[in-house]
Amino acid sequence: MSPRKHRRAESGEPPVAMGNNEWTEEHPDGLYRVRSLTGSSSSKPYRCPGCDQIIPLATPHIVAWLEEDEALQAGADFRRHWHKACWTKKNTRRPNQR
Ligand SMILES: [Zn+2]
Repeated sequence: MSPRKHRRAESGEPPVAMGNNEWTEEHPDGLYRVRSLTGSSSSKPYRCPGCDQIIPLATPHIVAWLEEDEALQAGADFRRHWHKACWTKKNTRRPNQR
């Protein structure tokens, strides 16, 4: 019988950088800036490009845009609002976790 070691159970790596609600993801079509929104500051409903449905107000969701769009369309409305589930579905390729 081995004495029980004082060992903390690893709770696992966080899937994304926690504590930061914005990150980048590599997709086949480019590098996306992704932001997680609580929705509480939304002032209007957005249409999700994944399912073509409206995201109701005060619904936590994802905002994503291509970094190159940000550079090309400064000031334009290049951001896309996605349901979390729809964004995850688009994300068929997992970002490289290091
Ligand atoms: Zn959707």
